[in-house]
Amino acid sequence: MPIKYSVNFDDVNKHLFNVKVEVPKHQESILNLSLPAWIPGSYMIRDFSKNIINLNAKNKSDNLTIDLIDKQNWSIQTNGASCTVEYQVYAFDSSVRTAYLDQNRAFFNGTSLFLSVKEFKNETHIVNLIKPSFSESWKVATGLQRASKTPVYSFGKYFSDDYAELIDCPVEIGDFTHLEFEVAGTPHYLILNGKHYADTDRLIKDTTKLCQHHIDLFEKDTGGKPPFDEYWFLTNILPSGFGGLEHKNSTALLCSTFDFPNINKPEELSDGYKTLLSLISHEYFHNWNVCRIKPEEFVPYSLNNESYTKQLWAYEGITSYYDDFSLFRTGIVSFEDYLKLKGKTISRVNRGNGQLKQNLIESSFYTWTKFYQQGADATNNIVSYYTKGSLVALWLDLTIRKATGATKSLDDVMRTLWAEFINKGADYKGTQLDTIINIVNELISSDVTAEFYQLLNDKSPVPLTELLADFGVELKQVPSKAASLLEVSSEEHSPYLGFMFKESALGITVTQVLENSPVEQAGISVQDNIIAIDNIVVSKGNFSDVVNNLELEKNYIISCVRNGELLNSDIQVTAPVNELIELTLVDIEKSKNWKK
Ligand SMILES: [Zn+2]
Repeated sequence: MPIKYSVNFDDVNKHLFNVKVEVPKHQESILNLSLPAWIPGSYMIRDFSKNIINLNAKNKSDNLTIDLIDKQNWSIQTNGASCTVEYQVYAFDSSVRTAYLDQNRAFFNGTSLFLSVKEFKNETHIVNLIKPSFSESWKVATGLQRASKTPVYSFGKYFSDDYAELIDCPVEIGDFTHLEFEVAGTPHYLILNGKHYADTDRLIKDTTKLCQHHIDLFEKDTGGKPPFDEYWFLTNILPSGFGGLEHKNSTALLCSTFDFPNINKPEELSDGYKTLLSLISHEYFHNWNVCRIKPEEFVPYSLNNESYTKQLWAYEGITSYYDDFSLFRTGIVSFEDYLKLKGKTISRVNRGNGQLKQNLIESSFYTWTKFYQQGADATNNIVSYYTKGSLVALWLDLTIRKATGATKSLDDVMRTLWAEFINKGADYKGTQLDTIINIVNELISSDVTAEFYQLLNDKSPVPLTELLADFGVELKQVPSKAASLLEVSSEEHSPYLGFMFKESALGITVTQVLENSPVEQAGISVQDNIIAIDNIVVSKGNFSDVVNNLELEKNYIISCVRNGELLNSDIQVTAPVNELIELTLVDIEKSKNWKK
């Protein structure tokens, strides 16, 4: 028997979803209800149950007692009779991971809204989205299956085959722009909810190229069709913001109004648009890599507690490698521009001392407490399994290409993983730490297991200089600008301070302080507002000019405000530190083996 949910959107001013669950007759005398503590793809305990209000249950004639088990589990003595459970969910978070409701927009993940009823977990889940009384123009976008009488974009009945599918299909609602296109004969929907000026033709053209690239990569030997019947990009647009969360036939994206291609500048590829395309590419790649191929610890997901795995470097790192690489392969960026992006990634990993203190296994394993709950010390004390993981992916790709004369590549590893997923079907058990390296060894007919485990276990940079040289690319260390630790300085005099900042109403606000830097030695901390250097009032606008006029190894006074008090300290700027990485194409012939 299917279980039925209904969602009412009328309480927009209170930001409350009203949810009703109709549980049919059942065998058991007690029903067990629960809500996940986290959402797959975002590895942090979020305790969604904290937003549940007014939980109550009744059968035909009486209110039923709900027993409280723990923060996210309840039980109800029903003696097998049908019953109704009603509650409200407070929803006012714009992130892609939770739920949001106001007069302009509704969005939710099932992990925030739908209590699971254990006894019905594997049954069909029917969801009735009730048309709100206040808006004629709101439409619905979701990867949930539509009931036969529910036209696309309409309120009404949707369904999923089970609870796992229900919570894997976020729902975006509002008066949005909807774009439709086909890739490999499969309908794709791109929803833009929020203010935008996008050149939508160009957006569709570029998105299509990226989707086709990933389908060609994974489905080369399997018929060229993606593993879903339709796909939904659900994009929330805010003045500023960035994020994405992957699902099996959709993704929830968050970006800013100006990340889209400008209709007046058809030739321009802005940094914002490049980043958006790379996000689209990233989430779409996850359809295969983590939504289906996944670590053994995630088969099935255990959503009550943390689910520890040592393999996130592969799932996020390989996906991150391909998100940019596919921009080059589809002709959206040139190889030279791709190398610039790669250089920035290496620079990010090198910045701070994080990679000297945490290895990739630890980075994956402790994502719950460290990566997802980063403190002011993150740059110095942890390494990202996204960025460093993408460098391991680069190492794997180039190692395979080198050993096989580029007849094989990391693409073949991904296809092997995918073939295993398809062949095992319901018996798929997920990957283990050595799954990938075993495939690589077989592909190259040699054993690089020891080198591979060094990359995962060592607290040191991934050795790429010689490998890149084999592909005609020179890796060079260069100094950064004083005002930006990720921008290469072309000036001879470019003093080093070792921190990052953002604009502030009062001077500039320190966002990161690198270990052993002049700024750290001057006692400056994250969140301090630097207001003057050498008695000159500083702002984001004049900071470079002020610093570039200072002499090396000479004492200056740096003034900042912390907790409402003025602090003056001595600071000495030092000579430029070669901390950034620049990748340059020096041998086009050799690079061909990477470009294939
Ligand atoms: Zn990802």
